[in-house]
Amino acid sequence: MIFKSKYPDIKIPQSGIYQYVTSNPNKIPDEKVIYVDGVTGRSYTFGEFKHETKKFAAGLQDKLEFKRGDVLAIFSPNQVDYPIVLLGTIAAGGKVTTANPIYETTKLSYQLIDSGASVLIVHPEILEAAIEASIDAKIPASRVLLFGDKEIKEYKPYRSVLINDRIIEPIYYTPEEAKSTTAYLFYSSGTTGVPKGIKITHTNMVIRLAQVNSMECNLGPHSIIMAVLPFCNSLGSRILHMILMLGATAIIHSNFSVETICEYIQTFKINRIYTNPPIILNLVNDPSAQQFDLSSVDKIICAGAPLSYQSERKFYNIFKIPISQDYGLTETGGITRFPDTMKNTVPGSIGILIPNIKAKILSDDCHELGYNEPGKLWIHGPNIMKSYLNNKVATDAAIDKDGFFNTGDIVYVDEQGNYFIVDRNKEMIKGPGFHVVPSELESILLTHAAVSDAAVIGYYSEKEATELPTAYVTVKNGHKQSRALAEEIQSFVDEKVLPYKRLRGGILFIDRIPKNASGKILRRLLKESLKNDMKK
Ligand code: AMP
Repeated sequence: MIFKSKYPDIKIPQSGIYQYVTSNPNKIPDEKVIYVDGVTGRSYTFGEFKHETKKFAAGLQDKLEFKRGDVLAIFSPNQVDYPIVLLGTIAAGGKVTTANPIYETTKLSYQLIDSGASVLIVHPEILEAAIEASIDAKIPASRVLLFGDKEIKEYKPYRSVLINDRIIEPIYYTPEEAKSTTAYLFYSSGTTGVPKGIKITHTNMVIRLAQVNSMECNLGPHSIIMAVLPFCNSLGSRILHMILMLGATAIIHSNFSVETICEYIQTFKINRIYTNPPIILNLVNDPSAQQFDLSSVDKIICAGAPLSYQSERKFYNIFKIPISQDYGLTETGGITRFPDTMKNTVPGSIGILIPNIKAKILSDDCHELGYNEPGKLWIHGPNIMKSYLNNKVATDAAIDKDGFFNTGDIVYVDEQGNYFIVDRNKEMIKGPGFHVVPSELESILLTHAAVSDAAVIGYYSEKEATELPTAYVTVKNGHKQSRALAEEIQSFVDEKVLPYKRLRGGILFIDRIPKNASGKILRRLLKESLKNDMKK
């Protein structure tokens, strides 16, 4: 059975993303402040934004000989100049690849090389990782530029490419070009080891904004929106664009602490927050949050990972702020959500299909299922990525001959069209703003003298509101399972990886790692065992 959105299809706007986000449907004046840096207080008005992006586009062309189709990489946490560089590159006809600011050198090198980036713009605080990565990717120092005003070593501020007030008019895209031209190259976390470049066209991004905007309520030029989700991810980036469409004001920062979030809500009288489950649970669990006046917030949109109905309810009981879930993937943008506030939500559901989306739910043997039958969710719509970069095998595996994309999530839908996630049919361990790929930790575990086999899975900690990497190991003959050995193995791994990848869920012993006939670890069985083992 094919399920369709209850909403009428939206007409797909036919333009490049720069033209679309600056089309100013709400007729805001150029003096309207749209981006404010929560930390420094620096801001851009709508007029300044347009001028600065056109200036950056001119500088890229004139000083760096940046051509249509070239790739620029941004490696930075959220801050107020991020949108200038991102949309300035688009105005110059380029593609942008956004790297996660917590990446270490090897991951950044991989993304720079794979995406073919020829310019890198970096936040000074993470310059060291970027220097090594840019050398690996053969990007000369003259094309590695910094956010901020200071020159560090031989690296100049990005503004050094601006030439007085010279601007260029943004590249124009015909409807056909907008449909086929990649604007953004986001990177997947690489569940099977190697991250994939996800090609998002101008039209993909335009329709994603149009789809979601059609479901929003009470948003407009009066809105003050918190932009804390990382701009390097597709959802954070969608918010950055949405601000322009609405003519709203964004308070930009990257600090997830309860204190900062509450302080900003109170100081800036924030109305709308786009967030993820760990932030919600931190607010629920930290009594200090209740000392702030959060009454300006009319709604919170929570996305990226499951949030239980109990947590949603608990949050509402304390703060009287409704939460609406938003479900989607980098490859697809938003897929489901609820259109309005608490009144319309259904306990535990991720919402209903948004406009222009069709879905099918398939059994293991690929039969289309009906209502209330859990299976793999495949979706169809103009928001789906063009393809994976240079990876036809992965693209063909993800998109079928009818254009349906495999989300990898196991869901069911009830007769009213409400979707429920049953499980994630993927291996990555999701944390706030990062993913841990189990195979990386497993390969380190296997180098320990006492370990014969290993499997890493995520243990969802209610307390930390995130998944913690946890290992099951089997020991070689001659070694005894003991607490001391578990601790030794854990330190062995932890000292070799970045803090967010450490085995914070601990080490558990098992006699045999369950695997299927082709040797794939049966992680779902381990997750079941883990629930019991953690109770002990
Ligand atoms: P990413 O492409 O990194 O954004 O990850 C997408 C995955 O995150 C989806 O396939 C889901 O497994 C999960 N996800 C996203 N949004 C939600 C949500 N609202 N509830 C539950 N899981 C979600």
